[in-house]
Amino acid sequence: MERAYDVILAGGGLVGGALACALAGKGARVAVIEAVPPGGDGQPSFDDRYTALAPSSRHILEAWGLWPSLREALTPIRHIHVSEAGGWGFTHLDAAEERMGALGWLLPNRSLGEVVTRRLAETPGVTLVTPARVAAVEHGPEAVAVTADGAGGGERLNGRLLVVADGAGSRTRELAGLTARRRDYGQSALVTTLTPERHHEGWAYERFTREGSLAMLPIGDGRCAVVWSLPHARAAQYADGDEGALLGALQDAFGYRLGHLRGCGPRHVYPLQAVRAPRLVTDRVALAGNAAHALHPVAAQGLNLALRDAAALEEAVAGQLEAGGDPGSDALLRAYERQRVPDIRRTQQLTDALVRGFSLDLAPLRLLRSGALAALERSGPAKRTLMRIAAGRLGPLPRTACRPPGTAEEEEEL
Ligand SMILES: Cc1cc2nc3c(=O)[nH]c(=O)nc-3n(C[C@H](O)[C@H](O)[C@H](O)COP(=O)(O)OP(=O)(O)OC[C@H]3O[C@@H](n4cnc5c(N)ncnc54)[C@H](O)[C@@H]3O)c2cc1C
Repeated sequence: MERAYDVILAGGGLVGGALACALAGKGARVAVIEAVPPGGDGQPSFDDRYTALAPSSRHILEAWGLWPSLREALTPIRHIHVSEAGGWGFTHLDAAEERMGALGWLLPNRSLGEVVTRRLAETPGVTLVTPARVAAVEHGPEAVAVTADGAGGGERLNGRLLVVADGAGSRTRELAGLTARRRDYGQSALVTTLTPERHHEGWAYERFTREGSLAMLPIGDGRCAVVWSLPHARAAQYADGDEGALLGALQDAFGYRLGHLRGCGPRHVYPLQAVRAPRLVTDRVALAGNAAHALHPVAAQGLNLALRDAAALEEAVAGQLEAGGDPGSDALLRAYERQRVPDIRRTQQLTDALVRGFSLDLAPLRLLRSGALAALERSGPAKRTLMRIAAGRLGPLPRTACRPPGTAEEEEEL
């Protein structure tokens, strides 16, 4: 049987799932084709990681009605401290100094997964096709036909727009005729949690170490989420080895700002690669999230950037549907691409500059970097620009990603 939708989403992870909730909330008929069924093992998006959300993501999730259900799972970031092991310079960003309630929030991926899954099940107008994978994409003048291969065989769906959100290794991107360039960073992220001796008090630390960047991020009960980017072999060694060896290495790299580090949670390893799709759109197809751009986690920007893709699509599609127009028109897709490219490029460049800038372990470069961090610490305007980029506030941005008019920065409290 063939069914007709306004929007078909390939991939119902953090990006596809949240966008489906938003579109269905605006009355769109939406189908989500997702490889892993709700509650299924091995969901790659809603896993044990914690994501640092920027204010732009908060505005988007608030506009889509998802934020209130997430509140209990969020931990606010009040301070960010950036330093390099073996260097003397540092930079400190303070929410109070910037008259912000919080610089960002830590959210367990699983919590967003639970909220999105519940909302999708409750919202009329959403069809979840799962477990199923996109097997074919056919472009037509009036519609795009998508074949989903699932346990019960193939199902053909017709949509006016296909949003490809099936992650960095997207197969649907290729089936739709779009390409992506990939680059291995030569590193994997080792992810775990630990309980430091002293409470983090809302401080997030980014420490550049000899082997890669180490983020120590505040989460519930005074624990910290750890993301340590390391050469592949070293990450595997710490993931499989003795907990004491990992804690000792973390203590050496991080120091004693939070006292003794103890109590590692489960450990996971993510090979890191940069993905960049030169084109974001083709006939009745748009890429969003990691299918369009995957980033190194050093600046914690991947999902924040991806939610701004999703917000741009939601605004454009909802506007067309309200006006009785075509949500997969060439004009809409070209405007989406034009709007998103500057933000994507800027975020990719900032991320890669950080990875490259801190990758060489030479004494003169360390000195230079220390000087740069110290100079940043003293320069109000430079700090403010950095904050605007990190907060997802450098335009052009989707309207939904911006602070609603009339609300003050201080109101961005939990
Ligand atoms: C270690 C680490 C830490 C990070 N920390 C942060 C952070 O602090 N802040 C931040 O903003 N970002 C962070 N990110 C980035 C963030 O996790 C990604 O940007 C985000 O997961 C992208 O979501 P997505 O939905 O586009 O892709 P994915 O999360 O990969 O989801 C893809 C979905 O598509 C489904 N799927 C796959 N193939 C198919 C198919 N053929 N058919 C149907 N469905 C399919 C999958 O099951 C999955 O549900 C981090 C990334 C890593 C690796």
